[in-house]
Amino acid sequence: KRRIGVMTSGGDAPGMNGAVRAVVRMSIAKGCEAYGVYEGYEGLVQGGDLIKKMSWDDVRGWLSEGGTLIGTARCPAFRERDGRRKAAKNMIMKGIDALVIIGGDGSLTGADKFRSEWPELLSELVKQGEIRKEQAESHKHLNIVGMVGSIDNDMSLTDATIGCYSSLGRICQMVDYIDATASSHQRAFVIEVMGRHCGWLALMSGVSTGADFVFLPERPPPVEWEKQMCSIVSKHRKLGKRKTIVIIAEGAHDRQLKPIKASRVKDLLSNDLGLDTRITTLGHVQRGGNACAYDRILSTLQGVEAVKAVLESEPSTPSPMISIIENKIVRRPLVEAVAATNKVAELIENKKFEEAITMRDAEFAE
Ligand code: ATP
Repeated sequence: KRRIGVMTSGGDAPGMNGAVRAVVRMSIAKGCEAYGVYEGYEGLVQGGDLIKKMSWDDVRGWLSEGGTLIGTARCPAFRERDGRRKAAKNMIMKGIDALVIIGGDGSLTGADKFRSEWPELLSELVKQGEIRKEQAESHKHLNIVGMVGSIDNDMSLTDATIGCYSSLGRICQMVDYIDATASSHQRAFVIEVMGRHCGWLALMSGVSTGADFVFLPERPPPVEWEKQMCSIVSKHRKLGKRKTIVIIAEGAHDRQLKPIKASRVKDLLSNDLGLDTRITTLGHVQRGGNACAYDRILSTLQGVEAVKAVLESEPSTPSPMISIIENKIVRRPLVEAVAATNKVAELIENKKFEEAITMRDAEFAE
């Protein structure tokens, strides 16, 4: 029986459990065995009890659960070749030669590297007498399939990542709570949201809550942003708004890449406009809690597709990443998706903001 491993890696995101559940159950439905790799790459490197065979019942009730029940970790050892050699040995000892990884761009890059090194790692292990030649022969190729789990929606070549809509929903709910108290006292709130280098959560929560102003990394505000923001906020106040909401992406910066801090925005609203202003950093509530319906659907459909991709993969085809583009579950080369993601970050670092935006828009257009 074919043995398929499934792992979550990098930052946790709601919907990861749904993805693990779908991979486990689809593997079993297709006559394969499923193995859960616990604690991300740490589980592969350490092996033993951290790689466990999973049954249909083991994942019962996982669809709605937040976080990741098989754990995740940052694993420096897997960045070293020695760590990856240990990981290869542990997989061979368990008879696993296919791995579905649910994680961010770092996790997927590591996985693809592991796949390309696999034949060399096996021959080293044979030479060192750690595995038998026949074991290496029967697991000649490693199949890798990536699924993107991230609240940030920061991966290229997919319209949505598993977790981003749960997080967006949570942010909207929190901003709605703040709205009520802000209106009561006619206050202003500066709300910092997650997303790292990606402004998707900030932009979409701004649209969903009717925020007055939003700061995004991809589209830094004009040089005289202080004046612009104050004039927009005071215009809205004159039109009768009793509250002000400004949303800042955690990676927001000005056109010189200087971070725009919530405290700076608060000072402007307080001192220049005389508004009673508070800062709320939403923090980890944005990651927690149950997966929303969209993430349950996405993780299930993608988990099913991931197992199909494992079973159809050829040694010569590049590792796929399971995406959703224009509402269709599709496969895209994992390496291309990571390269495009890195390219957007590079354009921003080089202050080529318009090109970065065009590239993000192009992804939607695809
Ligand atoms: P998130 O977007 O939530 O941060 P991520 O997958 O990008 O998720 P990373 O911390 O970059 O998170 O990667 C998770 C793990 O993947 C690392 O701890 C490491 O074990 C492995 N990894 C990342 N990059 C590489 C690489 N270039 N080579 C080998 N392993 C890697």
